[in-house]
Amino acid sequence: MSRVYNFSAGPCTLPLPALEEAAAEFVEYDGKGMSIIEMSHRSKEYSAVHEQAIQLTRKIMNVPDNYKILFLGGGATLQFSMIPMNLMGGSKKSCDFTVTGSWAKKAFADAGKIGNVNVLFDGKDENYMTLPDPSTLKVSSDAAYLHLTSNETIGGIEWQSWPETGAVPIVCDMSSDMMSRPVPVEKFGVIYAGAQKNLGPAGVALVIIRDDVLASCSDDLTAYLSYKIHAEKDSMYNTPPVFCIYMIQKVLKWVESVGGLEGVQKLAEERSALVYDVIDQSGGYFSCPVQVENRSKMNIVWRLPSEELEAKFVKETLAAGMSGLKGHRSVGGCRASMYNAMPVEGAKALAAFMKEFAAQNKA
Ligand SMILES: *Cc1c(COP(=O)(O)O)cnc(C)c1O
Repeated sequence: MSRVYNFSAGPCTLPLPALEEAAAEFVEYDGKGMSIIEMSHRSKEYSAVHEQAIQLTRKIMNVPDNYKILFLGGGATLQFSMIPMNLMGGSKKSCDFTVTGSWAKKAFADAGKIGNVNVLFDGKDENYMTLPDPSTLKVSSDAAYLHLTSNETIGGIEWQSWPETGAVPIVCDMSSDMMSRPVPVEKFGVIYAGAQKNLGPAGVALVIIRDDVLASCSDDLTAYLSYKIHAEKDSMYNTPPVFCIYMIQKVLKWVESVGGLEGVQKLAEERSALVYDVIDQSGGYFSCPVQVENRSKMNIVWRLPSEELEAKFVKETLAAGMSGLKGHRSVGGCRASMYNAMPVEGAKALAAFMKEFAAQNKA
C-alpha cells in the first residue's frame, strides 16, 4: 500500500507505527483470545491502557499534580456545553471570550445559552485573520473564566503567548494544536481538545482541569455532564470510548519516541516554514491572508490568483498523492493541515508541487 500525504484538517493523518501496532493486535490483544474492543473496560488489560494514556499525557505535557486528566466522549463540541454548565453553575454567572474564528464562535454561542458572555476581542472586522495582543486583554473581575481558542483550524491563526488574568482561570480549546508545542499548563484552568487532530480517532476529548476549578464546578448537573463525577471515577463513570483511548495511548508513545513536545515542535516549524516560504517567495501568486505573527504551524491557508486555478491545483495535488488541500467550504482557497504525524517529506512534496504549479500555470 502506498499512503498518500493526507493534509486533511481532521480526522487526519496519524503516526503509521501507531496504526500498524493497532492492526497487528486488533483481533487478538495480548494473547487474550479477543480484541481490546471486546474486553470489559474494567479488565486488567484495558485498565493498564487507560492509566498509561493518562500518565503519558501528564509526562509529555508536564501537567502539574494539581490537575486532573480526563478522557470524555462527545469530542470538543460537548466541551462547549460542559464548560459553561460546570464553570458558570456556581456563584459566577458570566465569562469572558475572545471570538477569533469559526471554532471560538461555536463555543461562544453555546456559552451564551448558559450565562452572560463578555466579548474581550472580536476578529470579525479583520475577517478573523488577527489575534489580540494578549497584554491588552483585561478580564472582568466577575468572570468565571476567559475562553481562548489556541489555534483556529479554519482561519489558520494560532496564539503565540498567553494573557495574564490574575484569579480568573483561562479555559482553552487546543483541539487543533494540542501537544504540537510546549505550553505552560500552569497558566490554564482548563485545557481541552477533541482528539482527532493530534491525538487519535474522533469522538473523544482530552480535558485537563485544575483542582480548584474542578472544586468550583456545579453539583447540580446530570451525571455525564459533571466534571466532578468524571474526575472522581478517573473517566470510568460510564464505559469510556475504549478504542479511542487505546489509540491515543499508542499515539502518545509515538510522540515520546520523537522527542516529546520539543521534538514535535521542531518538526512543525520545519514543515510550516517549507510551505510559508513558498507562499512568501511566490511574488503574490500564492497569498496567505494571515499576518506573519499570527500564522498557524498546524493549518496553513492560502489563495491562488483565481478560483479556477485553485480547483485545478487541488485536482492535480490529488493525482500527485496529496489529499485534503481544499480550503474549508466557508472560506474557500486552499489549506494544508500538517499535524504532528505529517512527515517533513510531505511538506517538502507539497512545497515542490506548489513551486512547479506556479511556474506552469500563469495567473
Ligand atoms: C475540530 C475542532 C473542534 C471540534 O471537535 P469535535 O471533536 O468535532 O467536536 C473544536 N475546536 C477546534 C479548534 C477544532 O479544530
